[in-house]
Amino acid sequence: MASVLFYNRIFSCSEGQTVLDVLLENGQDVPYSCKMGVCVTCVMQVVEGGVPAQAQEGLRDSLAAQGHFLPCVCQPTTDITVTNIAEQDLFSPAVVLDIDPLTPDICRIFLEPTTPLYYHAGQFVNLRREDGLVRSYSLASVPSQDDRLEFHVKRLEKGQMSNWILDDLEPGHHLGIQGPTGNCFYEPGRADQKMLLIGNGTGLAPLIGIARDALAAGHIGSINLYHGSQTLAGLYLGDDLRELEAAHSNFSYIPCVSRGDAAEGYRPGRADDVAFSEHAGLKDWRIFLCGYPPMVHCANDRALRAGAAIADIYTDPYELKELRETPRS
Ligand SMILES: Cc1cc2nc3c(=O)[nH]c(=O)nc-3n(C[C@H](O)[C@H](O)[C@H](O)COP(=O)(O)OP(=O)(O)OC[C@H]3O[C@@H](n4cnc5c(N)ncnc54)[C@H](O)[C@@H]3O)c2cc1C
Repeated sequence: MASVLFYNRIFSCSEGQTVLDVLLENGQDVPYSCKMGVCVTCVMQVVEGGVPAQAQEGLRDSLAAQGHFLPCVCQPTTDITVTNIAEQDLFSPAVVLDIDPLTPDICRIFLEPTTPLYYHAGQFVNLRREDGLVRSYSLASVPSQDDRLEFHVKRLEKGQMSNWILDDLEPGHHLGIQGPTGNCFYEPGRADQKMLLIGNGTGLAPLIGIARDALAAGHIGSINLYHGSQTLAGLYLGDDLRELEAAHSNFSYIPCVSRGDAAEGYRPGRADDVAFSEHAGLKDWRIFLCGYPPMVHCANDRALRAGAAIADIYTDPYELKELRETPRS
């Protein structure tokens, strides 16, 4: 059994338990969200002892070298001393420039960071409200083309951050930005490789950035973007995507509607079902899957079965904070 020393208090960590679970069980007020090693909201620093390599996966090398790690996926094997990371070291300020409703339940927000943010289109950052509430949002902007950072936010029933952003956030407000994080982005090279992009809801945000980034980099292979929603009203930025399609013969935008009859120009069915039925063989394709986690995980398996290589599949599952009394299955 390893022990965790956190601000002069020692907690025992039994086998298989994570540092985050031990701290939460013992009433420590530490931030977290996905609890799966994805969102980086809970990042901490180990100041004595070592953590397993898995607890630093996905962090930038420079941060890992400073002892940053993810307590939600850290099962320590030796005694360790850990601390929170000072907020000013994690978050830099950004000002809200504009908020643009896209559907009744989705808006896009434009931010200007006070210090330059170096990112790849498709990565995500953590946004922090003044009171400390933190959630992850994917970047829809492209650094080489857009001056402002763009995010798409969907309202979730009872969701703290999304409702606040849609109802109360105003231009001029400040938010903290942590990141960027994530490896779901376009890497130049293999310019003739075919690309399949599948997203539902605001899973479109990183995909728009990735598609525009690839086109700007001179990608010549076909880029097929499937965007899904249960209803027609849930699809957004269709005109922009049609314009992109008109400007680039290798880019296709395929909007999909899974409930009811699809209107002309829309495919009936879930975006992943439609995409895999239209592209049965994916050997040598590059795949990007973003949005609702069950769709992302299931599409990942289907892409592998269709012949795509693991190294060619990039995912951005929007894992939610678990707040239900009976956790989702
Ligand atoms: C890598 C990553 C990228 C992401 N990118 C985006 C993005 O680009 N756009 C986007 O919109 N989202 C994105 N998300 C999701 C985002 O981080 C938030 O989780 C989302 O906005 C919901 O946050 P919230 O504070 O509104 O909801 P929370 O308050 O965290 O609630 C989470 C869930 O619990 C439910 N809930 C809340 N309170 C209760 C309660 N009392 N009882 C039962 N259920 C309850 C809510 O309905 C919701 O489903 C991303 C997530 C990750 C991990």
